[in-house]
Amino acid sequence: MGKVLEKEAYGLAAKDESAVLSPFRFSRRETGEKDVRFKVLFCGICHTDLSMAKNLWGLTTYPLVPGHEIVGVITEVGAKVTKFNAGDKVGVGYMSSSCRSCESCSDDQENYCPKMILTSGAKYYDDTMTHGGYSDHMVCEEDYIIRIPENLPLDAAAPLLCAGVTVYSPMKYHGLDKPGMHIGVVGLGGLGHVAVKFAKAMGTKVTVISTSESKKDEAINRLGADAFLVSRDQEQMKDAMETMDGIIDTVSATHPLLPLLGLLRYKGKLVMVGAPEKPLELPVMPLIFGRKMVVGSMIGGIKETQEMMDLAGKHNITADIELISVDYVNTAMERLEKADVRYRFVIDVANTLEPAP
Ligand code: NAP
Ligand code: ZN
Repeated sequence: MGKVLEKEAYGLAAKDESAVLSPFRFSRRETGEKDVRFKVLFCGICHTDLSMAKNLWGLTTYPLVPGHEIVGVITEVGAKVTKFNAGDKVGVGYMSSSCRSCESCSDDQENYCPKMILTSGAKYYDDTMTHGGYSDHMVCEEDYIIRIPENLPLDAAAPLLCAGVTVYSPMKYHGLDKPGMHIGVVGLGGLGHVAVKFAKAMGTKVTVISTSESKKDEAINRLGADAFLVSRDQEQMKDAMETMDGIIDTVSATHPLLPLLGLLRYKGKLVMVGAPEKPLELPVMPLIFGRKMVVGSMIGGIKETQEMMDLAGKHNITADIELISVDYVNTAMERLEKADVRYRFVIDVANTLEPAP
């Protein structure tokens, strides 16, 4: 590769495992022929940003500029870009490139491509590290850019780019999107609360399974869940045994699977999207007796991310957010750690990010 021209960028980076985010200057590549350059307006804070900043999974390279629920407005497009123009409102999720020729890319599931490149904290083709959306602007190949429907507010639409597609993708793939089905959603955080909204839009009955009794009223009256179970209340859990066709588990910490498997009907599916730091214990007998399945799922392909976004536009689905300024990000991370967020923090990047010194 020849000399890569660069443009200055700035944002917030974690510099070590303390995960404290502080000002950081770096550079981004020039807008290539197939690239789109955009000014970042808003960026959601996913629990994965926190886990990566702390290097919980041992995958982190510092400095890390997190952020993969990024929306903004295009400022420049490359000469061979065909789908976007300057001024378009667009977004990027956690995936910024892939090989385009392997089995999963051919399946429109680039997220499982062995050469998939993450938007933050990964090595790009030119050997530079990718830096995410806690920053002033982004450069991304047009094939990995998502269009945001006109009717959706950009700040509340941002979390759909990760939280939204991560729960939408397995619901579709595993056939948990059929009207009348009973779906459980475990953990009412960023992913969980949009799972409730999509599952309701698909016409299913939704039960939230939560550790936080205080979320019950909102789950039912604001988010539209049909029922709410407090996971440590054994009576409540017992009454709901063998009633669910599928469960989307979004819990970020170690937790027991046995009670969840008990909630599943014959042939029910437990979909793991939450990513606890340590392995979970898998009780096998309830799987065998009920022909039940436990599966994992990661974000979603680009085509289905756009499909999810368009469905969100049609049903007016967005995240319930707390819009915060850049100087609140470290406090937000502490609150996220304690499951104290209703239900997604989104950073007002364009209005509150000051150039790094
Ligand atoms: P979040 O907003 O922090 O929500 C997680 C929820 O899990 C909490 O609100 C809480 O809900 C519940 N929870 C937390 N600690 C718990 C504990 N010790 N025991 C039981 N429940 C607990 O996080 P998020 O952004 O939605 O992300 C959720 C997980 O998904 C994270 O692990 C993240 O890394 C992962 N993730 C995976 C993908 C993927 O591609 N598969 C994509 C995005 C995120 P209650 O208060 O209702 O109990
Ligand atoms: Zn995420």
